[in-house]
Amino acid sequence: LNKQNVSKSYWFHIETYVHVSLKRNNLLLYNTYTGRTLEYDGEAHGKILRLIRRLQSPKNLWMVRLREEELRDPEISGFVEKVRQEFMGDLTDTALSEGKPAQMVPIVTIQRRVERLKKEAHRSVGEGMMQYLTEVSIHVNSRCPQQCHLCCNAYRQFSHCTTEKSGPKSDNGELNIEKIRNLFSQLEACSLVNINILGGDVFGYSQLEALVENLDRHPAPRTVFTHYKNVSQREKQLALLNPEVTRVKVMIPFPIDWEHLKAAVDTLNRTGHTAFCMFIVKGEEELAAAEQAVESLQIENPGIQPYYDGANLEFFRECVFSQREDILEAKPQLKDIYMNSEVNEIDFGRIIVYSNGGLYANANGERLGILGKNSLYDVLYKEMYHGKSWRRTRKRIEPCKSCTFELLCPPLTNYSRAIGRNDLCFKYELNERKQ
Ligand code: SF4
Ligand code: SF4
Repeated sequence: LNKQNVSKSYWFHIETYVHVSLKRNNLLLYNTYTGRTLEYDGEAHGKILRLIRRLQSPKNLWMVRLREEELRDPEISGFVEKVRQEFMGDLTDTALSEGKPAQMVPIVTIQRRVERLKKEAHRSVGEGMMQYLTEVSIHVNSRCPQQCHLCCNAYRQFSHCTTEKSGPKSDNGELNIEKIRNLFSQLEACSLVNINILGGDVFGYSQLEALVENLDRHPAPRTVFTHYKNVSQREKQLALLNPEVTRVKVMIPFPIDWEHLKAAVDTLNRTGHTAFCMFIVKGEEELAAAEQAVESLQIENPGIQPYYDGANLEFFRECVFSQREDILEAKPQLKDIYMNSEVNEIDFGRIIVYSNGGLYANANGERLGILGKNSLYDVLYKEMYHGKSWRRTRKRIEPCKSCTFELLCPPLTNYSRAIGRNDLCFKYELNERKQ
């Protein structure tokens, strides 16, 4: 053949730091360095979608040959140009390389690890399992002098005290200190980053001193959750807690008794503790009132925790739902994308113990075991293996698994369970219209 009659061709590749999501006819390319996207929705972009499918093929490793004629097609050339402008990929003359250049494409390891270990009978999925545990929440009792309207629901949405899942009457609704000792001896093998202590009313726990002794044997910092009305006149109990390793998280649901709140903040300050005040808000008015309280009481570490009460969806849509800009502004990195594809980062590594001894990976999940009957190791193994909470990812649920943002969105929270929707996001309305 005459050399001049042979058309030129190019290697076209997509960089490995680009996240590509193709769902039916919707395509998203996301540059994990710049946070910028290219999006193509609908069948009108058929040629681009076909090119992406070719690139996606395992044998191609995100690199394909494009002939000059293909590049003369305005749809393809426009796409290639945009990809190059956004530093998402490039073209290289095939004449410059002897064979097809290879790209190293990263592979997510946790999934492979679980699947591989399942097949290897002589090894256990639980090897190193205790190291996955990063946070334990212990509800030491279920007795409380308050009568909050949110007592049976808030703890299902975020970390909060509750009188539910109560310990036996013979133990006064408490988690027996022997069981707590047993738990701490198992925790010695873990590198926890935090231990949460909750009630009922933590300061009403009859074995508080012994509990603190156990906590002090573990190097992990701890957070004690309390209702603000359960703080004043608890100086003696607060004195047991070392402020250097203990955060006191003061839960403040509305309506607020301002005198009581001021007394709680004063008591904490007097005992050398910083009050980490968490206002539990259901709407805009409460949000504004919380902001005012922060100013007038000069609260240094305020936090806002939205609470879904079944009638405030509008507030959630305004203030909680993920907007497109929020998701992209968070600039998820490749490691976040891999994490989102395999585990629920919010639940992963966390275990809850209720005062009845029940062990859970999530307040809404199934009971995984009972403290004293089942070892922590077995519980973690069960959760990792059967994955109802730690591995609750968007790629397994509708409508997210059909959405190009599936791996960019923040992990599923318990608000999804409370509201009964997984798409607490900018696509909510669109998805609703489709139903
Ligand atoms: S302070 Fe906590 S445990 Fe007590 S009633 Fe209120 S929500 Fe329930
Ligand atoms: S929450 Fe689900 S439906 Fe909404 S953008 Fe994220 S993945 Fe898509």
